[in-house]
Amino acid sequence: MEAWHFETRAVHAGRESGPILAGGRPGPEGSVEGMGTPVAPGIQPSSSYYFPSLGALSRAFDDPQHGYVYARHGGPTAAAFAGAVAALEGAPAAVAFASGMAAIHAALVAAGLQSGHTVVAARDLYGATQALLTSFFATQGVRVRFVDATDLEATRATVREARPRVIYLETISNPLLRLADLPALAEIAREVGALLIVDNTFASPYLCRPLEWGAGAVVHSATKYLGGHGDLTAGVAAGNAELAEPLQLVARLAGATLGAFDAWLALRGLRTLPLRMERHCANALRVARYLAGHPHVERVHYPGLETHPQHALAQRLFGGRGFGGVVSFELRAAGAAEVARFIDSLRLFLPAPTMGDVYSLVMFPAQASHRGLSAEQRAALGIGENLVRLSVGVESADDLIADLAQALARSEP
Ligand code: PLP
Repeated sequence: MEAWHFETRAVHAGRESGPILAGGRPGPEGSVEGMGTPVAPGIQPSSSYYFPSLGALSRAFDDPQHGYVYARHGGPTAAAFAGAVAALEGAPAAVAFASGMAAIHAALVAAGLQSGHTVVAARDLYGATQALLTSFFATQGVRVRFVDATDLEATRATVREARPRVIYLETISNPLLRLADLPALAEIAREVGALLIVDNTFASPYLCRPLEWGAGAVVHSATKYLGGHGDLTAGVAAGNAELAEPLQLVARLAGATLGAFDAWLALRGLRTLPLRMERHCANALRVARYLAGHPHVERVHYPGLETHPQHALAQRLFGGRGFGGVVSFELRAAGAAEVARFIDSLRLFLPAPTMGDVYSLVMFPAQASHRGLSAEQRAALGIGENLVRLSVGVESADDLIADLAQALARSEP
């Protein structure tokens, strides 16, 4: 699998378990007795499994290599999806979860976090991740220190002083699209023996594979680009082989295992990830350039623009494949009323609180992802009351730009 290009792996990873997933008995050369080999992997929704003897069941209980026992412990469809993500991220091990948050929680627990340990985390994290750290792990005695991860010297100083067990970052931050300098941050983590966990949701393995840059674990909300069609909730955590067992244990004991139907949809979505990402990136670059030249727009945040302070880093990390599908911008001389008028005028960009779908989406961070913060706290993070986030879909870029043009014309203060 490793020798093939990313696009080939995306199409074929997870397919080889087809005969077993189809519920048949594998015959010679992978065929299923009584029929040919299905091209597409099947869904196996059974909540439990029986064996020809108690001894065989007992062996499966002791070692998953000998078979599946009970769906909460894991099943073949979720395993096929996790295996496909492992192939795309270049990870020795991956476990699928019922949501991105379940995967993030599991990765933090699998890192061995205990009372007295410290996590150093980027300060502009996805809101629920920040809340998980401060409302959940912090109350269990884990110290959490937030840093501006784009300031490498300040991050290094905090890490040297705090000697964290975990450093936690997002490849591309939300909603200001700041990048994590993964090779430099991996070096900082290595110096103190910390596990670097990277949320790669916004970049997807198409653009960036954090393990190749020295991260110890990578997590995804597969609800976004990996699934891609806005019709499932899933997560995945991948990393070094020694993380496999603790990740599986959290999934099993916390009941965070991914169900068969969402796993099948996620695996189906994954096959077109490179095609979708190519279009997301091309459309987002056109949209960002259009917005940057519009008189009603004060500022555009997009790593593909030469004006983005980390444009060179983006080229290095993403290898010229693109710059992602999310674009944020500030409406000129606008507040909540003008932003509302703009968003309410859009016809193609749907005002839904997610991203990474084939559909174009729009979100107002001050009233959605960051509504729990005060205006002062938002301002300290650089999130103004005029900031709009677009998740650019795979429609025609001409249509998307026309939609933005007509809505911008109506947003004039
Ligand atoms: N990480 C990032 C960057 C996200 O944007 C999200 C959700 O929006 C999550 C994690 C959580 O994922 P889920 O909603 O699948 O639990």
